[in-house]
Amino acid sequence: MIIVLDRAIREDDKDRLRQFLTDKGFQVREIVGEEETIFGAVGLVGIDAREVEIQPGVVRVIPISKPYKLASRELKKNDTVIDLGPIKIGGPRIVVIAGPCSVESESQVMETAELVRNSGAVILRGGAFKPRTSPYAFQGLGEEGLRYLKAAGERFGMPVISEIVSPHQVDVFRDHVDVYQIGARNMQNYELLKAVGATGSPVMLKRGHSATIEEWLMAAEYLLAHGTENIVLCERGIRTFETYTRNTLDISSIPVVKKLSHLPVFVDPSHATGIRDKVLPVALGAVAAGADGLMIEVHPRPEKALSDGPQSLFPVQFEKLMRDIEALSPVVGKELSRIPHAPAKAIGEPRRAGKPRGAGETGTRIAFQGARGAYSEMALRRYFHNESFSPLACRHFRDVFEAVLEGEAIYGVLPIENSLAGSVHENYDLLLRYPDLKIIGETKLRVEHSLIGVPGATLDGITAVFSHPQALAQCDDYLREHAAWELTPFYDTAGSVAHIADEGTPAHAAIANAQVAEMYGMAVLKEGIETNPRNYTRFVVLARTDEAEMPDANMASLVFSTPDQPGALFAAMKVMADASLNLKKLESRPIAGRPWQYMFYVDVEIPSSRKGYTDALAALEATVEDLRVLGAYRAN
Ligand code: PEP
Ligand code: MN
Repeated sequence: MIIVLDRAIREDDKDRLRQFLTDKGFQVREIVGEEETIFGAVGLVGIDAREVEIQPGVVRVIPISKPYKLASRELKKNDTVIDLGPIKIGGPRIVVIAGPCSVESESQVMETAELVRNSGAVILRGGAFKPRTSPYAFQGLGEEGLRYLKAAGERFGMPVISEIVSPHQVDVFRDHVDVYQIGARNMQNYELLKAVGATGSPVMLKRGHSATIEEWLMAAEYLLAHGTENIVLCERGIRTFETYTRNTLDISSIPVVKKLSHLPVFVDPSHATGIRDKVLPVALGAVAAGADGLMIEVHPRPEKALSDGPQSLFPVQFEKLMRDIEALSPVVGKELSRIPHAPAKAIGEPRRAGKPRGAGETGTRIAFQGARGAYSEMALRRYFHNESFSPLACRHFRDVFEAVLEGEAIYGVLPIENSLAGSVHENYDLLLRYPDLKIIGETKLRVEHSLIGVPGATLDGITAVFSHPQALAQCDDYLREHAAWELTPFYDTAGSVAHIADEGTPAHAAIANAQVAEMYGMAVLKEGIETNPRNYTRFVVLARTDEAEMPDANMASLVFSTPDQPGALFAAMKVMADASLNLKKLESRPIAGRPWQYMFYVDVEIPSSRKGYTDALAALEATVEDLRVLGAYRAN
């Protein structure tokens, strides 16, 4: 049952209530939500809800209708986010686990770890105890395999996961893995579930070959009831009459489970399909359907793999898969998880101490332009998801630069380019005017607009719409259908929602992201009103830094002008072509105060062997005028 506590419950009443429930045979978990704090009480016993309701500090008691209690969304409304140090599973980032089916040797797992890490995987997998159908097949290297896996994870900074097949192995696994994997064949091995649950460590629970979703969630309930809170569910295909693929991926289980449970859901397209060239399309399907992450088998030489070679990706296929996931993620409002490269370390100290923080504010202060809830704030939250921060809302773009320069904020987040409207020139110009600030990262956000009104307002009653001029333009088709509405430009989208909230006039609506409506207690009248759904904004993260390049940089943004002579731009381009640098953007802009002269904005990919890039920069310096590196950073 769910016991909703009074906001003002005294600590001693809470303790007494916990004791009362424990004495009655319940297991009690406290769940602190944004709106309320609850006790989740589960146990074998029945109790008259009224007995609990009369305890001091109890607001109400709600029974949980599902047989799985701790795993159900009824108990916990917010998604569970599993903290693996630098990696968080279950948040807005898609986590990719990759590695060989089996650890075959130290060199094989090292080689695989390096290549999957370079392509963007953040967790390393590798089986050491293999539950094989045939007793004559390779059974895994056992504890030796776990040691190799752990060493590879440590060398490449990746948490590791491996499958445990017996409760007796718990102690060995504890020393070697970050996440225990319970395989499909063991999903209902209840002694194993109890033993692994009791470790309190993160677990990936695969769906059994013939398990219903309810049976799968009941298995998760075993783990939860025995002590771990950090469970990832992994759909890996079920047995059906179809024989073309190894199993049949139940893709609809993703949204179904996400509705029923707060636990993150992964998909393993390797075991689901059993066929290498089916892995990529199915993996993308899983991401599109809302999976929190993927587990993929990769082998440096799949044709030589000791297990599951036919479904293991070649390294180049994995690299392509990662690029495709990266492109797809913003469509579902997510971003690919990366192993952070400690950007904070490269940041110069603020010139002066920041302003005193407001009550309850903790963490690094990060400036953005707009009202609370602006797209820039969403980008900021996406980028700094793993860190503790407090956003600082600034009225103008320039204020963001000033805040970072003056040390009021350590970072600033700014829109630099929209896929439909082009560059945000004001920010490019400001980047030139603030040479102490550098781009240290970027993130892309899909722009989805909603029409937002005061609660109870209806479309028929709207007479005026407020929003940023660009947002109004981006909803042109929809607004034309309502030609009578008066359109009023506002300095930003979130601010327009704050404005209509202040006014409280049902005839006035605003255009912004649907999330902003909730922040200001407003209602979404119509979702997805943007004319072109392929609308993305690229944001850059600024910091004061003395570093020339961020660790792991793969993109540089440059600005230069050229001498006024034939072939000048061609000469600059030739430097980059000769160094085999891939140009991602080239744009010219008038130079302020020098009519009919232009500067060029260039984004160029930095190859993993740095030399081509550094040599090209030196050559460019000699070829162009006023070369400035706005930043060399990790692009997503
Ligand atoms: C595995 O991931 O190595 C594995 C054996 O998977 P499953 O339990 O899903 O068959
Ligand atoms: Mn396998």
